[in-house]
Amino acid sequence: MIIIRKLKDTIEDTIYTALSEIKYQPQHERALIKPCIPSPCQNGTPYITNHRIIAGVIDYLRHQGIKEIIVGEGPLRDYERTFVVSGYEKMCRGRGGGNVRLINLHHAERRCISWDYGELQIPSLVLDSEYINIAKLKVHTSTTVTLSMKNQMGLLRKEDNKKIHLLGLHRPIAALASVVKPNLIIIDAINGEQGGPPGKHGQEVQGINLVICGSHLLPTDAAATRLMGFEPENIRHLKIARDMGVGGFEDEMIGLPLDKYQMNFIPLTDHRRIANLYYHWTDETCSGCLGLMAEIRKTALSHPWHIGRFIRYGLLQRLDIMTGKPEIIKKTHGSRIIGVGDCMRDIASKHGIPFVSGCPPRAVDVLEKI
Ligand code: SF4
Repeated sequence: MIIIRKLKDTIEDTIYTALSEIKYQPQHERALIKPCIPSPCQNGTPYITNHRIIAGVIDYLRHQGIKEIIVGEGPLRDYERTFVVSGYEKMCRGRGGGNVRLINLHHAERRCISWDYGELQIPSLVLDSEYINIAKLKVHTSTTVTLSMKNQMGLLRKEDNKKIHLLGLHRPIAALASVVKPNLIIIDAINGEQGGPPGKHGQEVQGINLVICGSHLLPTDAAATRLMGFEPENIRHLKIARDMGVGGFEDEMIGLPLDKYQMNFIPLTDHRRIANLYYHWTDETCSGCLGLMAEIRKTALSHPWHIGRFIRYGLLQRLDIMTGKPEIIKKTHGSRIIGVGDCMRDIASKHGIPFVSGCPPRAVDVLEKI
């Protein structure tokens, strides 16, 4: 079953009411809530799950007699800052009364499970608790949409997260959904992230003010995909999951009619651009190198020597920074190309491109190569 609800009164109350309407009953005595907080963004921005949704779920779980509640996420870098800047640390402390813990899943105990690619280590909490996946309505550079199925990548060890990209990304996400199945899925559609003109990175879609709750990954993601104006059939990991037998795109729908709220989200392009600096990625580029562009900018601004070089060689002249495993290297007139990240090593060597190693590479090393 899937329910779509418009925000009414407070976000916390809306969630509580939606879960009551679908008569959601936890099956375990302990709950693990997995939001989407991949990087240090402020609450209310369209890049992370709004923590007031988590607060509503905590209230509901408490009312159902759940005493131990854990909020867990595995950001790829800077997790302490991520939890503080996003307000999650404060929310969990305030809401908890001592029994809500916020944890970095990279430090959680893990167990091996089998999946299509051999063995995979998953936090034991996912397997032994009521597992609640709370994703954000967002576009993604490679998968077009990033919803609850993609949110599960945050359960993985860093090395497995990177490996999934190298295994082809779309099929592994579907395969993960066939072995890790939440008891409850919620998609935060209060606002959302869409692309913009070519080369621009995520822009906010404001005032959607919806929440979607479902009991199965695939139909819940399919509903959210349609809400964004995309066809699930055209989203590779959803289609593969359907064809693998993970489930169907349809489920019983209650609450608001999806058609009435359908929008036209703009997808992201395969590069980002600041002045003459083009930053490119492929399906193989994981969050480590995707987040590097922001790090380069931040590091450049932190030191006058870097600022000067960054402006002179990175912004005033055309510079293409390549990540992942691009099939074609196209040189435009007068441009310079740098390959960054170990995934690019062989391609850089084959084409004689200056290269910065690391997995992910350090921003300061990229600035020095510029
Ligand atoms: S080199 Fe970059 S894209 Fe490749 S696995 Fe490492 S961090 Fe990810």
